[in-house]
Amino acid sequence: MLHDVVIVGAGPVGATLALALCDADLDEDVLDARLAGAPTRGDRSLALSHGARLVFERLRVWSALAATPGAVTPITSIDVSQVGGFGMTRLAASEHDLPALGYVVSHRALQATLDAALARANVAVRFGMAAKHVGGASAYAAVTPADAHAEVLTARLAAVADGSGAIVAGIRRERRDYGQVALTAKVFVDHAHGGCAHERFTADGPMALLPENDHYGLVWTMTPERAEQVLALSDDEFLRRLGAHFGTRVEGFTRVGERRTFPLALEVARPTTGARVVVLGNAAQALHPVAGQGFNLGLRDAFELARAIIDAPRDSIGERPMLDAYARSRAADRLAGIGFTHGLVHVFGTDAPFVRWTRGVALTLLDVVPPVKRAFTRAMLFGWR
Ligand SMILES: Cc1cc2nc3c(=O)[nH]c(=O)nc-3n(C[C@H](O)[C@H](O)[C@H](O)COP(=O)(O)OP(=O)(O)OC[C@H]3O[C@@H](n4cnc5c(N)ncnc54)[C@H](O)[C@@H]3O)c2cc1C
Repeated sequence: MLHDVVIVGAGPVGATLALALCDADLDEDVLDARLAGAPTRGDRSLALSHGARLVFERLRVWSALAATPGAVTPITSIDVSQVGGFGMTRLAASEHDLPALGYVVSHRALQATLDAALARANVAVRFGMAAKHVGGASAYAAVTPADAHAEVLTARLAAVADGSGAIVAGIRRERRDYGQVALTAKVFVDHAHGGCAHERFTADGPMALLPENDHYGLVWTMTPERAEQVLALSDDEFLRRLGAHFGTRVEGFTRVGERRTFPLALEVARPTTGARVVVLGNAAQALHPVAGQGFNLGLRDAFELARAIIDAPRDSIGERPMLDAYARSRAADRLAGIGFTHGLVHVFGTDAPFVRWTRGVALTLLDVVPPVKRAFTRAMLFGWR
């Protein structure tokens, strides 16, 4: 049987695509290697842009997510500063007449909400089914399950949102290792965070504190060797080092939860489309978390792809002109998001005195030149188009 679309991977990006397509008169099939109802491994804080909220509102997911206790925390301001250098800036939602600049969302709560929304919309996800290979020909794409007894799925278009794109034939992936890891943990303070997120540039690399529920979600980048030492510290010593990095900008750290590390690399698929195949989300681009752009970019991939599929006559779904038009529609936002994140890692990830000075000038300019600040904040809120 020839489906219109097979979606491989119902993580946050694949699930968003499936929901965006569910009201269209299309035959979609969705599979995910996860077992039904299994919680995602570990949890992490995701910073969602205001634009991401608008997408979830249209898909009728936002209200359910916001109603989950502790799942969504509004970011009302962002404080950007550097250790050992001048210059800081504060972006505030009130300057843009918005309730929030963005939202910190629990990855696990978001996935559970999306899974429930798919079930409510009668989108049957084949949980526990991993794909082993995705290949396309001129007439259809074929998705081969890892289970040798399961049938090969064919579709006009295979949309791969499996987080890596490694099983797709004909799509090359460039990887650039940053030689850094992100250490994540929940950290608690002796006062209310007031919805303020902190981005701090240090000799180790950038650090972020995201306000989440009754604590902060910490993302601290550093070399793998340094991470091994920091993982081995006692809780008290860990909190003391953290406090030393934040100085007077954030004080009163009291408690830290489980610490985990993730390797950091930039991975970019070139191109993102092949014969009857498209990769999206982390399968198209996996970014350093410094700017919190990864999922936001993936969400816009899913929304634009759904629009391209719905707008195409059924016979044209997955054909070259449709895929080229989709790739063109995503090119500017994607390149700007990748370039901005990569640039931040370089400009803000090194600690040479000249770089520290340039950084100070950039932060000061951002703070005192209103049009620059507005343009920067708008890009953080809605993307780069
Ligand atoms: C430390 C850290 C902090 C981050 N912070 C932010 C942030 O603040 N803001 C932000 O926007 N982004 C952030 N990100 C990035 C964000 O987590 C990812 O961009 C996002 O999770 C990607 O979603 P995805 O659906 O593309 O892929 P994934 O989340 O990887 O989901 C892939 C899905 O595909 C399934 N799957 C995998 N292989 C197969 C297969 N072979 N067959 C079938 N199914 C399969 C999996 O079970 C899973 O459900 C962060 C990342 C890290 C590491």
